[in-house]
Amino acid sequence: MATVTFRNVRVFPGHGSALLPASDVTVDGTTISSIADHDPAAAPGDGGASIDGRGRTLMPGLIDAHWHAAFTSISPLVALLADPYYIILVAGQQATATLMRGFTTVRDCGGPTFGLKKAIDEGVLPGPRIYPAGAMITQTSGHGDFRFPNDLPRDPCCGLAHIEKVGAAAIADGADNVLRVCREQLMLGASHLKLMAGGGVSSPADPLDVTQYTERELRSGVEAAENWGTYVMVHAYTPRSIQQALRAGVRSIEHGHLVDQETVEMIAEAGAWWCLQPFLDDEDAAPVPPGSEGKFREMVTGTENAYRLARENDVKVAWGTDVLFSGDLAAKQGKLLAKMTRWYSPAEALSLATSVNAELLQLSGPRNPYPGVLGRVEEGAIADLLLVDGDPLADIGLLADPAANLKVIMKGGTVVKDES
Ligand SMILES: [Zn+2]
Repeated sequence: MATVTFRNVRVFPGHGSALLPASDVTVDGTTISSIADHDPAAAPGDGGASIDGRGRTLMPGLIDAHWHAAFTSISPLVALLADPYYIILVAGQQATATLMRGFTTVRDCGGPTFGLKKAIDEGVLPGPRIYPAGAMITQTSGHGDFRFPNDLPRDPCCGLAHIEKVGAAAIADGADNVLRVCREQLMLGASHLKLMAGGGVSSPADPLDVTQYTERELRSGVEAAENWGTYVMVHAYTPRSIQQALRAGVRSIEHGHLVDQETVEMIAEAGAWWCLQPFLDDEDAAPVPPGSEGKFREMVTGTENAYRLARENDVKVAWGTDVLFSGDLAAKQGKLLAKMTRWYSPAEALSLATSVNAELLQLSGPRNPYPGVLGRVEEGAIADLLLVDGDPLADIGLLADPAANLKVIMKGGTVVKDES
């Protein structure tokens, strides 16, 4: 396979606080084969292509650790009522847009993405690598139970609700049923499992404060995951829901905005991950379904405190946006990363979205659909690379305007955008 050399680039390797000196980075096939000091006299060798970096920054492709590829841009009502094939076509369009923002990998946290992932992997359409959770696994009345009141009670002879049929949610009560739906998602190719451990904002029926699933039910999901070498992530905001999940063996806490000191210490002690989102009540707030405004306002009161506690305690923090229901918000994916400078230095924020999130992805173990080193510019790493017009360590805001500032986007050694 031909080589591509990025000549004269300043490298952000995905960690640390400084750019490397001017370098030449060669990609051979799908991986980075060498990183050498820039040699102005060197000619592109052996018929390989070269990209003139002109001193611009080469960094790893971005990773969003909390994404919903199936529901990024459609409204909640469309998500519930539209033809599922329409939903997936829109998701495909959004997947391409995600990649063109420089996000070469997403960790999906629930929704029907197995077909989308397969199509992207086969080159049917451009999009990011998707680590799929499959259906959101929820108890009756839980954060993933989007049935309407007139769907209740469940009629045993009529089978599944629409959200279950399309693979958006799996409603299961009792340890045995949880075990079954978890195994179904693993059978379909889930790289990890998503269970709902506490109240949510966008779901109409569950108050924010409630704890969902029993410890026994959660442990059932954890056993199913661990038997397949992978892990469970849970949606949880409150101390009670997080603590119960940790006792059950959950490895990744999603959100956690209403934490307290004791709970953060427990996350740290368990060595679990905490995937936080920079949710604020500002112009970047996600659209909230009617009736959920109060829950949203309550949740975002915890954001500053959550990041403070995350910084003060030695917790493995990941970054993810959880963009839902808005193409306008999805377009701000890079801005939501730049926003992290409220709590982190630009270099720290960029490390979160590259090498740190990549470390979290390794939790999938043998169920990792993309083995190899992601989130780093180093020899042997998968060549997911961005050429940035400027220095994102000095101005992370460059990533908020990817159309203008990402000059080259490469995924797995293939150039998907070249305006070098
Ligand atoms: Zn989510």
